[in-house]
Amino acid sequence: MVLLFVTLFSMSALFGDRVNEDELARLRAENLSLQEKYDKLRATVTDVGNKFDELVQKELAIRSLFNLPEVSGEERQLGTGGPMSASMFSMSAVGRTAAVTEAELDRLVKLSQFETERYQEIEGALVGLKDKLAHTPSIWPTRGWAMRGFGMQNDPFTGYPEMHRGIDISNAIGTPVVATAIGRVIYAGYDPGGLGNLVAIDHGFGYVTRYGHMSKLLVKNGQAVTRGTVIGLMGSTGYSTGSHVHYEVYRNGRPLNPRDFMLNQQ
Ligand SMILES: [Zn+2]
Repeated sequence: MVLLFVTLFSMSALFGDRVNEDELARLRAENLSLQEKYDKLRATVTDVGNKFDELVQKELAIRSLFNLPEVSGEERQLGTGGPMSASMFSMSAVGRTAAVTEAELDRLVKLSQFETERYQEIEGALVGLKDKLAHTPSIWPTRGWAMRGFGMQNDPFTGYPEMHRGIDISNAIGTPVVATAIGRVIYAGYDPGGLGNLVAIDHGFGYVTRYGHMSKLLVKNGQAVTRGTVIGLMGSTGYSTGSHVHYEVYRNGRPLNPRDFMLNQQ
């Protein structure tokens, strides 16, 4: 009876050992397979990380191209992984790979949020820039020949040098004169100062343009205009010796050389 008991006991112990060994082998295989899976996942995560680095480089290039403010190095530091924690050294190899992959994924999630915000910021800045360009004088106000330029010029009546605040463009009476950027007419009438029939346009962003000596005005005070809107017809009204447009560009009240704002070929 005792013998049977002992036999049964040892058999069960033997059986139990075999179960443990089987279980161990199964766990080892599973561990190996998990390690392989994590290695693959880690490679993918590294790949995504590299693509993010490219995205950041593109962001920097766009910023430099459009003179947008840079993002400080400290701000960019966010999300860069810290050193391995002490607890990780006690982990199994697969546990460490899992922890490292998890940390890297966490960094990528933070980085993607950070980069999305940076790109939204850039979009906003570029929309603003586009708006500013649309309001900046940038074309010839009419077709014709540039005669007197900006700066000290001999006055056609007195022959003495005088400050010329604009540029004179000559052509036949009736040649269309156009607004050179988006804006609003702030003056459309006869100028007692010598510019004859005059239109002045406020473009915002500190820009004002003026167009003088016209034979006919085709806009009214307060009217919104866009680049290319015909505002009047060329003439020789006011202090003028022949048919031409006297064109001025002001920024923050200062007269600038209109030539710098005539970027198209006529
Ligand atoms: Zn002039």
